[in-house]
Amino acid sequence: MTTYLIAGNWKMNGVSADLSEAVALGEALKAQPAATRVALCAPATLVERMSRTLAGSAVLLGGEDCNAEISGAFTGDISAEMLADAGAKLVIVGHSERRAYHGENDTMVAAKALAARRAGLEPIICVGETLAEREAGRALEVVTAQVAGSVPAALAGSPVTVAYEPVWAIGTGLTPTTPQIEEVHRAIRAALVKALGEAGAGVAILYGGSVKPSNAAEILHAAEVGGALVGGASLKAADFLQIVRAA
Ligand code: PEP
Repeated sequence: MTTYLIAGNWKMNGVSADLSEAVALGEALKAQPAATRVALCAPATLVERMSRTLAGSAVLLGGEDCNAEISGAFTGDISAEMLADAGAKLVIVGHSERRAYHGENDTMVAAKALAARRAGLEPIICVGETLAEREAGRALEVVTAQVAGSVPAALAGSPVTVAYEPVWAIGTGLTPTTPQIEEVHRAIRAALVKALGEAGAGVAILYGGSVKPSNAAEILHAAEVGGALVGGASLKAADFLQIVRAA
């Protein structure tokens, strides 16, 4: 079984003063190491400083998105190589907020995942259905198609993680039931094996969407759940640590 990954996604939150939360997380894990991999995915302005802050700690640093190109005329964007240069080890690609607000489709997400690999970063590739899709009984079909389109075969054998994030559960306080999570994770596993062959069997599938200290243990111990992608509850070290300790 792959080691659990608990990854925080700070989204468009965090200024210099909030680096103290990263410090607190790093110190707590030094005092009492976790059996899981722990990561914080930070907004671009904090990546380099957070990398210094976390130096020597067990906390891995991630970016929240990357452009698929190495460099060039893409104002406002950041390449995977730039994130690696700033100290990142992972990068989230295809988050539903990028898909919804920046028009990113599976082809673009796949290109970003390959860019991550090119730069030596581990992509966390996000998939998940909307409420309308779930209500129409299409959740499995939607995530299966997203995995097929967003996880390129060339990633077989490279570090890669997939996150199942039902759009309707992100930031809403709503979560699927454990059987619903397990059903989707099994479908994602089958799609990963189809996409990556044998390597697909070893890819960690994180759950994301309103994970908090009170529901983390149940979610993390569900079948085929290999960790969590955590938004709001990753902003405060004390909350995030409780989630890490629940794994
Ligand atoms: C996320 O943004 O990836 C997420 C899961 O957010 P939250 O935990 O706040 O629902």
